[in-house]
Amino acid sequence: MQFMRVKKILERGLDFLYPQICPYCEGRGGREGRSLCEDCFDDIVKINFPYCFRCGTALEISYEPAVDEYECGKCRIGNYRFDRARSLGPYDAGLKRLIHHFKYDGKPGAMRDVSSLLQNFFSGAEDLYSGFHVTSVPLHFKKLKERGFDQSYLIAEETARCLGLPMLAGALTRVRETPPQASMKRSDRIENVKGAFQAMDPERVGGKNILVVDDVFTTGATSNEATRILKKAGTDKVYVFTLARA
Ligand SMILES: [Zn+2]
Ligand SMILES: [Zn+2]
Repeated sequence: MQFMRVKKILERGLDFLYPQICPYCEGRGGREGRSLCEDCFDDIVKINFPYCFRCGTALEISYEPAVDEYECGKCRIGNYRFDRARSLGPYDAGLKRLIHHFKYDGKPGAMRDVSSLLQNFFSGAEDLYSGFHVTSVPLHFKKLKERGFDQSYLIAEETARCLGLPMLAGALTRVRETPPQASMKRSDRIENVKGAFQAMDPERVGGKNILVVDDVFTTGATSNEATRILKKAGTDKVYVFTLARA
């Protein structure tokens, strides 16, 4: 206890002597060992209820949905194959900057911010994911070599830790390199990601419930394809979690 207090005071002293630049507001209020400053971190918007019970999109309705299991229009027409998806917040402002910081600069401070976000987000949600195994949407090995780390894997690992669940690393592998999807429309994304993944041996994924973790959910094309491959290999339920939703 005493040690923690001393450590905190020392850290504050360091912040005073060597102020960190916050990558979002660019102010000098950045914290030692973290990425965003306290204000930008606190300003990260979360997707709270009401959201679609299946795909997790925020519902723009002014009334309280009559049922807990309320589905959005896209889910009602059967757009998605996964059983459920949730995202922590909209891909915007501080969260977007944080993900970029993490993905392209590999900053360990960004990982600490991500960890705190996940810890808050999943606290109390353990029941929903009970009995699940956690895996991530994989990078192609060429990209992994280029970048040196796999951000989705790190988010998945942290998610598993927060929920007290086992990891099932490599449940999916990327067998085809896919061009970046950022500027593609939905139909192109579906084509782009088709056949990009392979599932682990059906003996290892069959009959299991798997939570697939990724950084950003855009059209759901990647999550859908990951689900299709896992279910083909016999996986029972597939839930999806992404840090952000575009
Ligand atoms: Zn800031
Ligand atoms: Zn939905």
